[in-house]
Amino acid sequence: MAKILLIDDCPEDVAFTRLLIERGQLGKCVARGSGASAMAACAEFRPDCLIVDYHLPDMNGCELVEELRRHHGAHRLAVVMLSGSPNDALPGEAMAAGVHEVLHKSCLSIESLRVGIRNAFHRLEMTLRLEDEARHRVALAARLDLMIEGAEIGWCDWDLDTGEVECGGRFLRLFGLPEDALVTKDIFFALIHREDRQRIEEEMQAVIAKRMPLCLEFRVLLPDGQARWINTKGRLEHDDTGRPRRLIGMVQDLTEMRRAQAEARRLEDLYLTLADSMPSIIYVTDPAGLCTFVNPEWKTFTGRSGDAWRGLGWIAAIHPEDRTAAEIAWTASTSAGRPFMHEYRLQHATGNYRWHLSRAVPVLGASGEISQWIGTSTDIHDRVAAEDALRRSNQDLERFAALASHDLKEPLRTISCYLELLTLRYASQLDAPARRFIAAAVNGASRMTRMVDGILHYSHLNHQVLAITSVDSGRALADALMNLETPIAEHAAIITHDPMPMVLADQIQLTQLFQNLIGNGIKYCSNRAPTIQVSASLNHDQITFRITDNGIGIDPADVERIFEMFTRVKVSDTVVGSGIGLASCKRIIERLDGSIRVESMVGVGTTVIVTLTKAPDEPLSPTVEPA
Ligand code: ADP
Repeated sequence: MAKILLIDDCPEDVAFTRLLIERGQLGKCVARGSGASAMAACAEFRPDCLIVDYHLPDMNGCELVEELRRHHGAHRLAVVMLSGSPNDALPGEAMAAGVHEVLHKSCLSIESLRVGIRNAFHRLEMTLRLEDEARHRVALAARLDLMIEGAEIGWCDWDLDTGEVECGGRFLRLFGLPEDALVTKDIFFALIHREDRQRIEEEMQAVIAKRMPLCLEFRVLLPDGQARWINTKGRLEHDDTGRPRRLIGMVQDLTEMRRAQAEARRLEDLYLTLADSMPSIIYVTDPAGLCTFVNPEWKTFTGRSGDAWRGLGWIAAIHPEDRTAAEIAWTASTSAGRPFMHEYRLQHATGNYRWHLSRAVPVLGASGEISQWIGTSTDIHDRVAAEDALRRSNQDLERFAALASHDLKEPLRTISCYLELLTLRYASQLDAPARRFIAAAVNGASRMTRMVDGILHYSHLNHQVLAITSVDSGRALADALMNLETPIAEHAAIITHDPMPMVLADQIQLTQLFQNLIGNGIKYCSNRAPTIQVSASLNHDQITFRITDNGIGIDPADVERIFEMFTRVKVSDTVVGSGIGLASCKRIIERLDGSIRVESMVGVGTTVIVTLTKAPDEPLSPTVEPA
């Protein structure tokens, strides 16, 4: 039942209207006699229908309705206005104020009131619906504008009768026109690139004649002379007779997409040309590792035409002994998504097998999944053969060195023994020059023995397996000093050193290096007591050791030479040596990827400068370098 607020200042009229409402069971009624009291009642009683007299003591009925709508949220009230006297202007004024129905008091009855209230509710509903629709349309238009702006597209609406074109969004900007430009059919066609214009005119005519959807791509020429690719999609609108009246379309800038497509095509051509001209076999597989492409080198190398290589067919060209291992390695890599690297023998067109190194990496798609594998298979047969030959020759050399050392030292021992016997037994018969000659011969024999030992040591050095890891250079230095205990004591040498860092090296060989260099500093001392300083400095990830002595020094002309085997420079025969120590140091440093050089001044002293890689902060497990 409706909640009716009746506003009338005439008590008789109120009583009458209220009677009609009650008799007709039109609603529950509350009455007020002025605009101000009606406003208070509205907030309290919350009516859904107003029956309001036009003449009120403090304002007229239209003003009250407006006031209620404006300030009391009464726009959802059905409003019936009662007028006491005929007034032609009232219906217009009342409707504008938000009144839905006007009734004359003179012909008020239950029935006329019932119809009036019903009409008021009906019109209120219509008004609310229209307001909702209007709000919905505004929201839609705003959303559409946003989409057009966000998608950076433009739209146009072409009147086929007048040739006028209405446009919006980015249309003008896409065609290089100023914001206030007027577009007509002729202006539109004039903007299209000369080379595309006729085609577009014909296609447009065909769209209209055949009533097809519109989908065109063409270039427009911008004021700066640049061409812009445009894509247009649209459809025809017809009048009631079915005649095409308007063409509505969306326009979009395709330039970047076209440029990206051209770049993609260029890159693809480049890769194909590269793949065609590569001296290695290049292959591509699907994510599961099944081969989908090989470059022409496959056929050139294997002599196999056709596409038997597809899938896992390529395995048939591998040496039977290597097939299983290759397939297992490939399957393991592709199923784990790990890069592949494997060596196998591949059958050449001549029928012979040649060693190949195959590597492949996964190519990831936009969302990080493997989209394909790309790999190469390179002929490494000559390298493998050379390495084999080198390994064999090194083994031969080492065997030879060991043999030679044994066979050479034996006669040297005989010479020394007999010379000693000669000195002992015939001492009385030997004069001073003879004794000198014999001493020189003994000295020569022992030098020869040291050289043979040196060669053997050097040969071992080349083939020793290195355990390269984080090494405490302080420990290596301490071990070296312990081994040099005797010469240090004999010469009363003073050896000082900086805090010693961790380096990447092999512990034993680093000890040998310090031992050789400090040993030389002691050996090649002047008449002063040897003083040797070992310093260590860090530069990026490199450690530089400087071993400085105060000995006899080396002529700068000789500092390069002394690293060659058996090279001794201007040293007296009393200083024992074989000329192998520095050659060994150089070999040790080369195997550790470091560097070694000498700075020296005759009569002042010598500094040997050694650079090695600093050990990483994290502890490292040793990498074993093969011999
Ligand atoms: P060796 O000491 O056995 O002769 P090395 O290979 O260790 O062989 O040294 C080669 C030569 O370089 C030495 O014979 C010597 O002439 C010179 N030499 C090396 N170290 C020093 C040094 N600290 N002071 C002076 N001369 C040196």
